[in-house]
Amino acid sequence: MTVKIAVTGAAGRMGKTLIEAISVAEGCELSAALERPESSLIGADAGELAGLGKCGVLVGADIAAVVDDFDVLIDFTAPLATLANAEVCAKAGKGMVIGTTGFDAGQKAELERLIAPIAVCQASNFSTGVNLCFKLLDMAARVLGDDVDIEVYEAHHRHKVDAPSGTALSMGQVVADALGRDLDKVAVYGREGQTGARERETIGFATVRAGDIVGDHTVMFSAEGERVEITHKASSRMSFARGAVRAAAWLKSQAAGRYDMQDVLGLKAD
Ligand code: NAP
Repeated sequence: MTVKIAVTGAAGRMGKTLIEAISVAEGCELSAALERPESSLIGADAGELAGLGKCGVLVGADIAAVVDDFDVLIDFTAPLATLANAEVCAKAGKGMVIGTTGFDAGQKAELERLIAPIAVCQASNFSTGVNLCFKLLDMAARVLGDDVDIEVYEAHHRHKVDAPSGTALSMGQVVADALGRDLDKVAVYGREGQTGARERETIGFATVRAGDIVGDHTVMFSAEGERVEITHKASSRMSFARGAVRAAAWLKSQAAGRYDMQDVLGLKAD
């Protein structure tokens, strides 16, 4: 059965890529596209917006007006927009795939409260390769343990507004969980001046913003005499979009609950 998908933030970098990914995904159909009300692109054909031919779906401004037209909403926008969309989807019992990053602690709690009654797949990174890396990082942290210094490096394009990236934070979280550390207590976000010697249990984060870098992440496990580095480099947003569309198709038949890309890919240990 066809999965009817709505894309919000349709004119954004990810929005356009998602529309393209849906157009080639078997069993999936774009049934609504949304942008903020003040956008000059309201009324534009979503297919044309994505550089494809006309698809007959016009970009709208009001999610409540189209909520009966889709099974799952894919949302890669901004935290406040995602919270507003979650409220509408929860009331209508519609599933959500959430890729938006940069939620603060209060917004995270509010999102959890809003989405409690529906099926939601949220991931800081929807690429298959990154999700495989999460698995490898867990293994590396358990094997190398407290004998190494652990640092997370990430680089993204100059337009990205939050730092460190959601993916870098997830990588840090995987490592912290594997080692029984509290990331909030051991994370060090950038260093400057007289920092003193490094404390072993800290997990450092370094951020680069430059040009059109789609997304690079490296986690370094460094000991005396050797180091292991696990690196992922995204060269196209299509890797995220394909994963998000796969998640939307998977989510349609799931019960209400919180899922992530590890669930979609079957990477969770039983
Ligand atoms: P972008 O190009 O700025 O796109 C965001 C889109 O959302 C824009 O079209 C923006 O419109 C729209 N938007 C913002 N507020 C809105 C609202 N209230 N109602 C409707 N539309 C609204 O950004 P992007 O690079 O596509 O990234 C979007 C988000 O996805 C970011 O949080 C990013 O970190 C995240 N992301 C996640 C993954 C992942 O795999 N999880 C991968 C890539 C990106 P305006 O331009 O008018 O503001």
